[in-house]
Amino acid sequence: MPADPIRKIALIAHDGKKAEMISFALQHKDALAQFELVATGTTGSLLSEEAGLTVHRYLSGPLGGDVQIAAEVIEGTVQAVFFFVDPLDKHPHDPDIQTLMRACNVHNVPLATNTATARRILSGEVLGND
Ligand code: PGA
Repeated sequence: MPADPIRKIALIAHDGKKAEMISFALQHKDALAQFELVATGTTGSLLSEEAGLTVHRYLSGPLGGDVQIAAEVIEGTVQAVFFFVDPLDKHPHDPDIQTLMRACNVHNVPLATNTATARRILSGEVLGND
């Protein structure tokens, strides 16, 4: 079955990946602005303040923002998740992170955990060489 067209994208970056998220957002601002955007609290503030994007902000990740986004994935109202995880750090809300990733996998929603994958999703590119 073909994947749903992307209308809304959720953006989340762990603290160690926030600078990468901002530079990704600045690089792809025009493309991102075509979509409705939601984000966890701190990521969302940075995206609007530093990249000038309009973003609906949920709670901060450690306070439940990842679970709020997981609910949107489950309801089918978010069609792609860009979740830049920091594999070199520990996270007190790891169960929430796993919930969000599991929701994407249960509902077959594209989940980019790094910029290389997010870039390919955004460009509509599935396989490509660079
Ligand atoms: P934050 O949450 O954007 O509020 O920092 C991200 C996370 O750690 O899940």
